[in-house]
Amino acid sequence: MDTPLPSGIAERLCAVRDRINAAALAAGRDPAAVALVAVSKFHPLHSVEEALAADQSVFGENRVQEAAAKFPPLRATHPNLRLHLIGGLQTNKAREAVRIADMIESLDRPALVDAIARAADAEGRLPDLLVEVNTGDEPQKFGVPKEQADAFIRLCQQRFGPSLRGLMCIPPAGQNPVPHFQLLRNMAQTHGLPVLSMGMSADFEQAIAQGATLVRVGSAIFGPRPALA
Ligand SMILES: *Cc1c(COP(=O)(O)O)cnc(C)c1O
Repeated sequence: MDTPLPSGIAERLCAVRDRINAAALAAGRDPAAVALVAVSKFHPLHSVEEALAADQSVFGENRVQEAAAKFPPLRATHPNLRLHLIGGLQTNKAREAVRIADMIESLDRPALVDAIARAADAEGRLPDLLVEVNTGDEPQKFGVPKEQADAFIRLCQQRFGPSLRGLMCIPPAGQNPVPHFQLLRNMAQTHGLPVLSMGMSADFEQAIAQGATLVRVGSAIFGPRPALA
């Protein structure tokens, strides 16, 4: 077997898990209520396999095609594997997304809701879903604009019922993320949604203090991302 040199992924995973536990305890929360999504985008299959060997079971990918190449073959040997799609989603990728994902974290517009509903009918399966909120109202970002979020969340709840699990956000770079995390938490509370996906390598401890139930951590586990192919 071709064994790559040790990359430190297992050690970094351990360190991130320790920090998650410490942040949860410091916030008076149960560490088991915070799940780690290991973001493996642009990293090769052997990095994912190393993380799996270190008992990581939940992974995040941005691009449907990359996820489809890496993850479905691993399911036979790793029945606990869970794949989250966390990137902006084109409607023409909805069918494949519904086929391969356990959770789609990036619902952000009615056309995508329609495409996912049609794909779910065709595939006979519906992943768990999150609405992505553009809490910074940044024009270049995915996510439903803040002022449209309440109506859009209600639409998703009507369409998908309890499969609409919660909300996700990516705060603007270079800003204090805490007000964005608070806004997302308050919105989730208003709509009775249990899942809050917020916090990345740079700010997951702050997100946990504000109630994150999913943190999406990439570079702190896998190292710097290889250049875009
Ligand atoms: C890449 C990415 C992450 C992980 O970012 P890191 O800073 O490497 O932890 C989290 N969420 C989304 C939506 C991403 O695209």
